Amino acid sequence: MNENSISADTLQIGSHVSMGGKEMMPGSVKEALSYDANTFMLYTGAPQNTRRKAVEELRIDEAHALMDAHGMKSFIVHAPYIINLANTVKPETRQLAVDFLTTELDRTRRMGSQILILHPGSHVGAGAKAGIDSIIAGLNEVLSKPSDVCIALETMAGKGSEVGCRFEELAAIYDGVRYPERLRVCFDTCHVHDAGYDIVHDLDGVLEQFDHYIGKDQIAVFHINDSKNERGAAKDRHADIGEGFIGFDPLYRLVHHPDFPGIPRILETPWYPDPQNPGQTLPPYKKEIAWLRTGTKPED
Ligand code: FE
Ligand code: FE
Ligand code: ZN
Repeated sequence: MNENSISADTLQIGSHVSMGGKEMMPGSVKEALSYDANTFMLYTGAPQNTRRKAVEELRIDEAHALMDAHGMKSFIVHAPYIINLANTVKPETRQLAVDFLTTELDRTRRMGSQILILHPGSHVGAGAKAGIDSIIAGLNEVLSKPSDVCIALETMAGKGSEVGCRFEELAAIYDGVRYPERLRVCFDTCHVHDAGYDIVHDLDGVLEQFDHYIGKDQIAVFHINDSKNERGAAKDRHADIGEGFIGFDPLYRLVHHPDFPGIPRILETPWYPDPQNPGQTLPPYKKEIAWLRTGTKPED
């Protein structure tokens, strides 16, 4: 391992975990622990809808006791992806996005996280400029209520009419909002690769470009995913680590990149078919976390 890379105990690495059933948030922590993770990401309910349990039912205190007992310091919340602040075509969709995001920021704070990841949105045909203006206006509404929770705009693949696949677009959002100090970025490797940036041959060049437009210090979380498609495909289909067009080496280098100590690395790689149990799937996270920590692929 490179002597400048992040030491094993500073590295914050985990995956997306679920939250549900009777266990709620303590179940999420247990799932993360089962992967030997020291951080994790969850949705506050189904990512496809906005139905949410009362915060009182999430068993937050028990979850934090469990985190403390295992030295886990932080976790990340992801807003549901149906939230679309960029929709100028259907005003009620955008209003739902503003209202839901306001409650989601409050839930994130009460759950004890400082980071809420948001997909900037899709302009649904109105053009990137209209989409960006709509996102800015929506964020100005949502962020007008003070809070110590930041919204991390995710770098997108450019699928359909997604806004935020160019660093310039995220920079335009920063420039337009009244509260840029409440914004951060979630840098997703699959999305950045699918958007056309060459993280395979020129990771540091891509990070330099990011630094030029937004600032490296704005990255609050990384999504570490391989991609099922070639660079620039604008597809957004995640592959397991080392099994896609990005490959293990660039992802390992980013996980251990000395410019981002303590910044959480979160896996969103797909579950794979259980060889013993056809029709069932298994999470790849325990193996992938070990591999990305050490650089050595564990035996199956
Ligand atoms: Fe996302
Ligand atoms: Fe992501
Ligand atoms: Zn994705």
